[in-house]
Amino acid sequence: MGTRAREIVGLDVDELLKKLNSAFASEWLAYYQYWLGAKVIKGPMKDAVASELNLHATEELNHAVMLAGRIIQLGGTPVLTPEGWGKESPCKYDAPADPYVAVLLDQNIAGEQCAISAYKALMDMTKDKDMVTYNMALTILEQEVEHEEDLQSLREDLDLMVRRGSR
Ligand code: FE
Ligand code: FE
Ligand code: MG
Repeated sequence: MGTRAREIVGLDVDELLKKLNSAFASEWLAYYQYWLGAKVIKGPMKDAVASELNLHATEELNHAVMLAGRIIQLGGTPVLTPEGWGKESPCKYDAPADPYVAVLLDQNIAGEQCAISAYKALMDMTKDKDMVTYNMALTILEQEVEHEEDLQSLREDLDLMVRRGSR
């Protein structure tokens, strides 16, 4: 733990640690949802979509790395068990039970939208109070915003293709 680092946080650190752990849990669920989705995916454009899902999986894992680092700096303990991920995460895990491309895209778009709201809330909470966490949340948020658009644009391409193909 960084003692001075903890002192300069102008917030209830335990409350902040709870939020950081919720985000940490969500990142593991997002990682696994993307990683597994890329394996089971079926349907048109599956190769293009799978490579985006794989890239996002690695980016979500990197978000978990950043969050674990910040949690430890502040004297907290990252969620210790996989069961804890489901319990702590504000964003639900959506199993890729139906492997059709459009279904996977929709599930992951919903996940990104939940992540965007969660990081926006973390930024609102830490603004002018904890610059280090604020800056980290901004870095992650920028990537979640990119993820949402990547998936929505693939979803649009898929729609165009399916509609044109059926004429
Ligand atoms: Fe993420
Ligand atoms: Fe994301
Ligand atoms: Mg991307």
